[in-house]
Amino acid sequence: MSSAVAERSAIELDLDEIRSVVAANASAVDRAELPASWLLPELAQRGLLDSGAEDVANLAHLIDTIAQEDLATAFSVWAHRMVLEYLTRAERSPFIDEELAELRTGARVGSTAMASGVKALAGIEALPVTATRDGDGLRLDGVIPWASNLTANGTVVLPAGQVGAPPIAVALRLDTPGITRRDVRGLLALEATASGSLQLSGVRVDPAAVLSGDLGTLVRGFRPAFLILQSSFALGLARRAVAEAQTLDHRPDQLALRPQVQAIAAALARHTATRDRLAAAPGQASDRELLTLRLDVVELAVAATRLESTLTGGRGYLAASPTARRLREAAFLPIQSPSEGHLRWELSSLASTA
Ligand SMILES: Cc1cc2nc3c(=O)[nH]c(=O)nc-3n(C[C@H](O)[C@H](O)[C@H](O)COP(=O)(O)OP(=O)(O)OC[C@H]3O[C@@H](n4cnc5c(N)ncnc54)[C@H](O)[C@@H]3O)c2cc1C
Repeated sequence: MSSAVAERSAIELDLDEIRSVVAANASAVDRAELPASWLLPELAQRGLLDSGAEDVANLAHLIDTIAQEDLATAFSVWAHRMVLEYLTRAERSPFIDEELAELRTGARVGSTAMASGVKALAGIEALPVTATRDGDGLRLDGVIPWASNLTANGTVVLPAGQVGAPPIAVALRLDTPGITRRDVRGLLALEATASGSLQLSGVRVDPAAVLSGDLGTLVRGFRPAFLILQSSFALGLARRAVAEAQTLDHRPDQLALRPQVQAIAAALARHTATRDRLAAAPGQASDRELLTLRLDVVELAVAATRLESTLTGGRGYLAASPTARRLREAAFLPIQSPSEGHLRWELSSLASTA
C-alpha cells in the first residue's frame, strides 16, 4: 500500500470501494434485476449501518457518494437508515432491541412510511391510518399509499392517528397478520425499490411496538437528519450530472452552454457547503435552513440532470443510458415528501409567522 493510500482514512477507502460496486450494479438495479436494498448487508459488514444519530455528517457523505452512481440504491439506504434512527429514539424493549439488531446486520430491511406523518403535521392532510384501543394493545386500520423497501423481511415504521389522543408512530413487521402489501410496477425510475402501498385491516399492535406516543416530538427529533440525508442523495445525483456536463466541452454548441454549466457547478458547491455545515451540527439547524436546503437541492438536481441531457445529445436520450437514468431518477425528487409544493408552502408559512 502506498503511503498516500495509507494516510487516507478507512471510511474514504470504504467509500471508494462502495462507489465502484454501486456503479457496477447501477444498470441491473435500474432494470430491477437487483433489489435496491442489495447494498445493506455490505454496509452492515463494514459497520456503516451502526453509526448513531449523531453521525449525520458521515452518513450524508456515504449517501451522497452512493447517489453519484445510483439514486435507487441511495434512496433504499436512506430509508433503511431512517428506520434505524426512529427505533434508536424509541423507548427500549426486547422487541425494539431485536429489530435494531437485525436492521444493523441487514438481516431485516427498514421501510419508512412517514410521508403521511410529515404531511399531517404540516396540516396538509389527515393521517390515513387510525389506531384504536384493543385490550392492552392497539388495532390499526387504513392505507399507506406509498412506501419503499417493502421486502419480505421488512420492518415498516408508520404514523397513526388516534381519537382524543396525539398521533403515534409504530414499528411493524410486514408479515404481521392484517397487512396486505400491493407492489406498484411500471415506475419511471426506482423500480427496484420495492415500492407500493399497504392496506392495514385490524392489525394488532403490541404496546412495545409503539415508538412514540407523540408523533410530533418524534418527527421534530429526527427531522434534521431526515432532511439532510434526503438532501444528500439529491446532491449526489446533481454532483454526477454536473461532473458529466463538465466533460462535454468539445463542440461549439456545447461551449455555448458553458455559462450554464459554470452557474450550476457554483450552486452545487454552495449547497454542498450548506449541507456540510448543517450536517456537522444538525441539532442547531433551523427549520428554515433545512427546508431551504432541501428545496434548493431538488431544483439543482432537476436542472443539472436536464443540462447533462442537453449536452449529451442523442446518445443520452437512449432510455437505458446513465444520462437518461439520472433524468428519470431526478423526476422523483420534487414529488418525494416533503414535496416541492409542500416545501414552498411550509417556507411561506414560516415567512408569514416570522
Ligand atoms: C416511487 C415512490 C416511492 C415512495 N416511497 C415512499 C417511502 O418510502 N415512504 C414514504 O413515506 N413515502 C413514499 N412515497 C410517497 C412520496 O414521498 C410522496 O408522499 C408522494 O409521492 C406524494 O404524492 P401525493 O401528494 O399525491 O400523495 P400520495 O401519498 O401519493 O397519495 C394521495 C392519494 O393519491 C392516491 N394514490 C396514491 N398512489 C396511488 C396509486 N399508485 N394508484 C392510485 N391511486 C393512488 C391515493 O388515493 C392517495 O390517498 C413514495 C412515492 C413514490 C412515487
